[in-house]
Amino acid sequence: MTVALSHAATHGALSPGQQGFVPNTAQVPNMVFSREGATHMTTDLKSLKRDLALAHRLLVDQGAMDAFGHVSVRHPDRPDRFLLPVAGAPSRVTPDDIIEYDMNAEPVEPTPAGLFSERIIHSAIFRARPDVGAVCHHHSPAIMPFAQTGASLKPSCQTGAAMGAQVPYWDSRDEFGDTRLLVVTQAEGDSLARALGPWWTVLMRRHGATVAGRDLHECIFRTVHGCADAASQIRAAALGPVQVLSEQEQNLAGTLRPDPIMRCWSHWTAVMNPVLALPDA
Ligand SMILES: [Zn+2]
Repeated sequence: MTVALSHAATHGALSPGQQGFVPNTAQVPNMVFSREGATHMTTDLKSLKRDLALAHRLLVDQGAMDAFGHVSVRHPDRPDRFLLPVAGAPSRVTPDDIIEYDMNAEPVEPTPAGLFSERIIHSAIFRARPDVGAVCHHHSPAIMPFAQTGASLKPSCQTGAAMGAQVPYWDSRDEFGDTRLLVVTQAEGDSLARALGPWWTVLMRRHGATVAGRDLHECIFRTVHGCADAASQIRAAALGPVQVLSEQEQNLAGTLRPDPIMRCWSHWTAVMNPVLALPDA
């Protein structure tokens, strides 16, 4: 398997409060880092687009996306650009649907295709966070009860630590009053990015969530495990109070390493419903 890692994701500075990645492996592009098979980092644009298309299908298969939601990745050679599909169902994204955007969320090349109105989410976070290499916006049923109630979401299990030690809330009403509940202006995007701050997941009141990662695979790992922890907490609450991780547990368990991330990517893509399979290149 070829692993596409955002170049920008390998060069960002750690922000306070962000759990550690394992920088020695992540900072060396084009090296093999897995014991579990051929997991080569590459900044090859073709491979990156293929993995980005596959990421959308994977998130549908994992229940994090339905007909809505999108994932972006910072351009491997141009940190001032990012890759995102044109508007469409996540289950149908192909590499050919993926185009380049500038940091104002405008296409670098004119296109007749429709664009996601919420592409601003991605540009705002990439601008605010040089360490972020990928962004996922979703409305997973797993996190919606938290977004609808304002209930605190914190990691409650080992894999759930991937969501980050804190999951801040962003409420569009605070600054913008009544809206369509979509993030469509630069001001709204910047506000959301400020709410995310140095963390990795931000809940959006009455809307959904946005998740960041240093690279695409980390972002997908964080998204799937964050949703799984949220869903599990709702079930567990029927049995008793949910215990969340201590700060030290969060620091230890939230330190993400490439091997488990790629093990999950390998597993999730292997067991994916065949109707979601990416057509051969
Ligand atoms: Zn949305």
